[in-house]
Amino acid sequence: KNKMMFKSTSRLASALPAAQRSFSTLVFAEHFEGAFNHSSFGSCLTAANQMNDPSVDVFVHGNEESVKSQVAEINKYPGINKIHVAQHANLHNPYTKALAFISSELIKKEGFSNVIAPATGFGKDLAPRIGGLLDLQAITDVVEIKEDGEKFVRPIYAGNALCTVSTIDKIKVLTVRATNFDKVLPSDNDHGYSTEAAADVDKYAESTKGKWLENIVEKSEMAELTTAKYVVSGGRALKSGENFSMLHDIAETLGTHQCAIGASRAAVDAGMVPNELQIGQTGKIVAPDIYFAVGISGAIQHVSGIKDSKVIVAINKDEDAPIFKIANYGLVGDLFTVLPELNDKLKAATA
Ligand SMILES: Cc1cc2nc3c(=O)[nH]c(=O)nc-3n(C[C@H](O)[C@H](O)[C@H](O)COP(=O)(O)OP(=O)(O)OC[C@H]3O[C@@H](n4cnc5c(N)ncnc54)[C@H](O)[C@@H]3O)c2cc1C
Repeated sequence: KNKMMFKSTSRLASALPAAQRSFSTLVFAEHFEGAFNHSSFGSCLTAANQMNDPSVDVFVHGNEESVKSQVAEINKYPGINKIHVAQHANLHNPYTKALAFISSELIKKEGFSNVIAPATGFGKDLAPRIGGLLDLQAITDVVEIKEDGEKFVRPIYAGNALCTVSTIDKIKVLTVRATNFDKVLPSDNDHGYSTEAAADVDKYAESTKGKWLENIVEKSEMAELTTAKYVVSGGRALKSGENFSMLHDIAETLGTHQCAIGASRAAVDAGMVPNELQIGQTGKIVAPDIYFAVGISGAIQHVSGIKDSKVIVAINKDEDAPIFKIANYGLVGDLFTVLPELNDKLKAATA
């Protein structure tokens, strides 16, 4: 493991409030079109509880309706001090340019010492902007927190090495990988936390310098790839998009509500499936209970997206394929004969 110290030149002194509040953490809640992301939030709360002081405030954004429903969801979680709200019709989508300004003002005003966002598209877009505005080095993709938040473990070289880093910044800005932190779970209790409107929301949300245009989302009945219990992935060997129907058959058998379809970059680049199915270094990171790699060679860029899966099952006709080095179960054979057989056996086992 490498050790590395991030340095930042400090315009920071001017960014800190006169009386820096000691050791408190601001956690960013995330939603998509109003649907609260419990998975990323529960993991961020766990990460926050591992920091030097578990005093946790939460930041939510959205329009009136979505803020209301998100606050109701957050009230089900234990151990929160206060909820800071950025409410505006223009913030229904995660327009991070405005959110970075609003939250940076809040961080300065309240004197938070730790800021935690999920390592999702939202958090990855937001945290570096906050870092830029406050002259801090965001520490991204944290997979482990050590020494009460003094040291952080994060992957480097496409996940082939882990690096332990610390920072001399007074405010620690992190993105954390949800799959590496057990989630704090919501309960049926309503904690009724106090809420407070963040300052200057209208000013930044109404700025004409940028605008969220639209969400383009592939609608699917299947489980969401990054949170699915099972993932069945296909590689170049599938040869065509039509042949992915064999993976869909397996997903049907396992239950589409808990199973998602993934793909290697080679399959995506060949146009077999849309690119939101891509798993790996430049795709999504998954950590299901069982990952099926079908006709995937096991290139490091793919493996970096699947290595936290609990069980990896590989089907490949080449017994020397690198995927077998990390697979818990390997089946050497032609996928076009193996998959239908596997599906029949799974059907029999789940009947
Ligand atoms: C900067 C960078 C980023 C990248 N990011 C990613 C990423 O995010 N995700 C990703 O996946 N890749 C990524 N790649 C690409 C990666 O290096 C590999 O090229 C890619 O993962 C290979 O995909 P594949 O395993 O489907 O294809 P191949 O490597 O061609 O493997 C196909 C496999 O199928 C097997 N096979 C063939 N026919 C059959 C059959 N009938 N039955 C069973 N098995 C069969 C073969 O033995 C082989 O092992 C990236 C590369 C770079 C340089």
